[in-house]
Amino acid sequence: MALVKAQGLIIKSVKFGEANRILTVLTREFGKIQVAANNVGRGKGGATSSQMFAYSNFTLFRGQKSLYRLNDADCIEFFDVLRSDLEKLSYAAYFADLTCSITSENNADDEKLLNLLLNALHLLCKGTPNLRSKFSFNEGPGNIPAAGWECHQELVPANDTPVKTAQESKTQVAARLDAVDRLANPNNGLHFNRKIKLVFELRAISLAGFMPDFDCCHNCGIEQNINTFDLVNSVVRCKNCIMVAPNIAEFNDTLLNACRYITMAEMNKIFSFEMNDELLVYLSDIIERYVAIHIDKRLQSLDYLKGVLRNG
Ligand SMILES: [Zn+2]
Repeated sequence: MALVKAQGLIIKSVKFGEANRILTVLTREFGKIQVAANNVGRGKGGATSSQMFAYSNFTLFRGQKSLYRLNDADCIEFFDVLRSDLEKLSYAAYFADLTCSITSENNADDEKLLNLLLNALHLLCKGTPNLRSKFSFNEGPGNIPAAGWECHQELVPANDTPVKTAQESKTQVAARLDAVDRLANPNNGLHFNRKIKLVFELRAISLAGFMPDFDCCHNCGIEQNINTFDLVNSVVRCKNCIMVAPNIAEFNDTLLNACRYITMAEMNKIFSFEMNDELLVYLSDIIERYVAIHIDKRLQSLDYLKGVLRNG
C-alpha cells in the first residue's frame, strides 16, 4: 500500500460497526473516492476530520482497485455553522447528495465542482444581513416576473484551460473565501439560501455535462426575444419558434442573461448578481426541474429540504 496525500471534502459518511465509517470524499487530486476510516475518533485524525463537510488534508493508504484507507487528516475547514442550523444543514446535505449523484469515481476533472461546493457551503455558513431586494416587483409578460436582474461584473467566460492540481494552503483557502465574500451580493435576504441553491444547481449540472445551450434560439439562431426553455432538450427558443412539448418553461431575455452568467462567469463571481425575489423563486423552480430531469432520479435530500422549508 502506498501513502498518498489528498485535499478534499467529505460528501457522504456511512457508519459501520462501532467506530468505522466509509467516507465519500471529493478530492482535488483524484476526484471522488471512497475512504475506509477505522477507529474514528481514537487514532490520529480524530473524529472531526471524519465528519460530513469536513474539508481536510488527508493522508491515505492507497490499495489496489483504488481503495483508500484513512491514515491521518488535518482539518482545514469544518463548516460548523451548518451543524447548528437545520435549514442550512438541509441545503448542504442536498448539495452533497447532488454532487454524489453527478460524479463518477476517480475523475480528477471534478476539481471545479469541489470549489463550487466549497464556496456554496461557505456562503451558507456566512449567511447574509436580512436585506430585502432593492428592486420592486413589476408584473411581467405572461407568468414571468419582470426585470430585476442586475449583474455587477463583466461577463467573463470561465477559464477552462486545465490547471495543474495544487493543494490549497490555509492562506489560499482564506483568500479564495474572501474573494467570494466580497463578490457575493448579499441581497435576496429572504431568499439568499435559495439563490445559493439556484447557482449551485445550474453550475454543477453544467459542469457535469448537462449545460443547456443558452447561446441563441435553437431553431432560428436569434440571440434575443427568447421566450421558452425546453428542459428536456436543454435549448431555448424565441417567440417565433414556439413549440408545444412537455417540460417547456416560459422564459425571457432577463432569465436567459442570468443563466448565461451563472454558467459562464468565473467561479468566484458567480454569486455576484442581484435578482428580485419573485424572479429568483421562478427561475429556481425551473432549474430544480431541469436538474431532476437530467439526473433522472429523485433525491431524498431534496424532499427533506423542502419539508424543512415548508415547516420552517
Ligand atoms: Zn427562433
